[in-house]
Amino acid sequence: MTTTDRPLATVDVDRSDPAYRSWLKEAVRKVHADANRSADTHLLRFPLPDSWGIDLYLKDESTHPTGSLKHRLARSLFLYGLCNGWIRPGAPVIEASSGSTAVSEAYFAKLIGVPFIAVMPRTTSPEKCRLIEFHGGQCHFVDDSRTMYDEAAALAARTGGHYMDQFTYAERATDWRGNNNIAESMYEQLKLERYPEPAWIVATAGTGGTSATIARYVHYMQFDTSVCVADPENSCFFDGWLRHDPDATADCGSRIEGIGRPRMEPSFVPGAIDRMMKVPDAASVAAVRVLENVIGRKAGGSTGTGLWSALKIVGEMVAEGRTGSVVTLICDPGERYLDRYYSDEWLAGQGLDIAPYTAAIDRFLETGVWPE
Ligand SMILES: *Cc1c(COP(=O)(O)O)cnc(C)c1O
Repeated sequence: MTTTDRPLATVDVDRSDPAYRSWLKEAVRKVHADANRSADTHLLRFPLPDSWGIDLYLKDESTHPTGSLKHRLARSLFLYGLCNGWIRPGAPVIEASSGSTAVSEAYFAKLIGVPFIAVMPRTTSPEKCRLIEFHGGQCHFVDDSRTMYDEAAALAARTGGHYMDQFTYAERATDWRGNNNIAESMYEQLKLERYPEPAWIVATAGTGGTSATIARYVHYMQFDTSVCVADPENSCFFDGWLRHDPDATADCGSRIEGIGRPRMEPSFVPGAIDRMMKVPDAASVAAVRVLENVIGRKAGGSTGTGLWSALKIVGEMVAEGRTGSVVTLICDPGERYLDRYYSDEWLAGQGLDIAPYTAAIDRFLETGVWPE
């Protein structure tokens, strides 16, 4: 892995220079053209017993060209940065990321021909680092994930680059009113289902951008859907939401990659969210292993966090005799985490015992009784 301390050429451009304007137009065109070549992600069914009268769906964000829901975010951030004049020809784009965003941003940086540097926790999975480098990006590691933001800003200042800052800009760079955002796409795909307006949508939060987009869209469209955010063990979002505390913090980094943050991120919009749930990390891993048995696909740990919460909500609906639909996400593919969530040695090393949670889900799927 390479570290960049060497300053790259500091580039400042004259915004009225026709050469810059034609570069900008071309860069924006390339990002649009990439979207135009892409298909929508599938809405898969998670089969439940017929007698329950409840349909559970998974929006499969692992099928984007860069393998995660961060493909949407990276596209939005690049367009926002380009249209704001922040991303300039020859100047690097720099990001603080736990990995997935950096993979997608490296892809878009290469697409428009600018250098890309990811500032990441040293614990980031080697597979994600490999993917960043595959897309032509560089990896720059920090030991304490809380220093990621300052390090990225400092690196941008040193290199004359642009610090993308997903944790600040995710919520505003995304078109929450529509433009085929993730929420609009879900509702389109549910149109011919027996319960086209879901009772619940369950998301997880890293930047908070996905849950903000979904919740805002629900309110904007005047739907009756409730939005739940599932939070892993090492994260402050749940406490911050519960106590209305914008200064909530968590001490150690999340073991569920992509979600769970040590500070209340500016892109996390607690007021738009109806409910939050704290999910034990072992339950997240158990759920994602069950998912593989049920739909034949591996997914990352955050998918398990959302699925555990969605199943719990389904259990509540069964108990109340309510019918309807629930939607959650497949955030990224499990192949990135074979040495983690799919490794029994890793689980043992982390002191995670998934057996009781696996048994609880299996029993629930047979009986309809949620075990908590
Ligand atoms: C980023 C991420 C999430 C959460 O999405 P946000 O929109 O950032 O809140 C969930 N799972 C994975 C794997 C992610 O990378």
